[in-house]
Amino acid sequence: MSATIVIGPYSEADQTALRDAFSPIFIDAPAALSDLDAAVREATTAVAFKGHNAFDGAAMDLLPNLGLIANFGVGYDAIDVAAADARGIKVTNTPDVLNDDVADLAVAMLLMRGREMEHASKWARSGEWKKKGEYRLNRKVSGGKAGIVGLGRIGREIADRLAAFKMDIHYFARSEKETPGWTFHADPVSLAREVDYLIVALVGGPDTANFVSAEVIEALGPRGIVVNISRGSTVDESALLDALEQDRIYGAALDVFVGEPDIDQRFYALENTVIQPHQGSGTVETRAAMSKLQRDNVSAFHASEALLTPVN
Ligand code: NAP
Repeated sequence: MSATIVIGPYSEADQTALRDAFSPIFIDAPAALSDLDAAVREATTAVAFKGHNAFDGAAMDLLPNLGLIANFGVGYDAIDVAAADARGIKVTNTPDVLNDDVADLAVAMLLMRGREMEHASKWARSGEWKKKGEYRLNRKVSGGKAGIVGLGRIGREIADRLAAFKMDIHYFARSEKETPGWTFHADPVSLAREVDYLIVALVGGPDTANFVSAEVIEALGPRGIVVNISRGSTVDESALLDALEQDRIYGAALDVFVGEPDIDQRFYALENTVIQPHQGSGTVETRAAMSKLQRDNVSAFHASEALLTPVN
């Protein structure tokens, strides 16, 4: 037997494709694994996983013959990969197919904050434009200095887009990359001191927790805008909230939050912050591509072929 369990919230179309391919059992979260019959758990060799609930060693131990966890998404910080390794379980993710959408959203959020598009739209819709006249002047975005924190697959797409906006590109990475002349910083504080816009594109997880620290935020200064499309955990959120509330930085544009979707209510009152509901990869086209790549990894596993996008 080599049965598949599908964990997480999937669209109707994805559920149909998964059902056609693997005739799986569907559950909502790893916590529901313990409700399944022992025979079902023992027959399971692959899991298609989606979501941000922790998939830890204890959950893996409920599936004694598990060989694959195929994650829906490039970020796999919900999965304890060290625990998977220790049990001989392979993990896959869905890189690259979502780069364009996430980079598009990062740039759109930066423009939205700089050009005050949310408030300007309210100005027009509420009739204030008619009553009070033209909207207040706001902030030029093109030609600024951008600092990318994490020049990986998505970070690079963001940098390419911002270069087309005539920006001077700086970046932090753990080692210098081949670039078209962008400036490398080995230290995020030195990067933040140099730039107007700090765009965070790091992996999530314990190694990068609070990487954008109070010190980094302070170094960015009053003209600075923080854009985060990575994970809420990569930014010291309480230091960011303090800086935003006290106008010690110009603003933020955030797609990801600690504890999302139950985000810190202090964000709701902040006029200098653009908030998006973690929708970086959320287009019909990209979600379909992510879903297909996840299924292709599960199929390759069941056929004993090489996995397409292994993590470990
Ligand atoms: P990637 O290519 O692996 O790039 C990750 C970056 O993180 C690299 O620059 C890497 O630095 C850096 N990094 C990794 N570990 C680090 C550490 N311990 N300390 C400092 N830097 C570290 O990943 P990607 O495909 O660009 O995706 C990045 C992240 O975006 C994902 O992990 C996910 O969390 C997030 N994401 C969000 C959305 C959304 O909807 N908002 C959608 C997709 C992805 P080096 O170059 O030095 O290795």
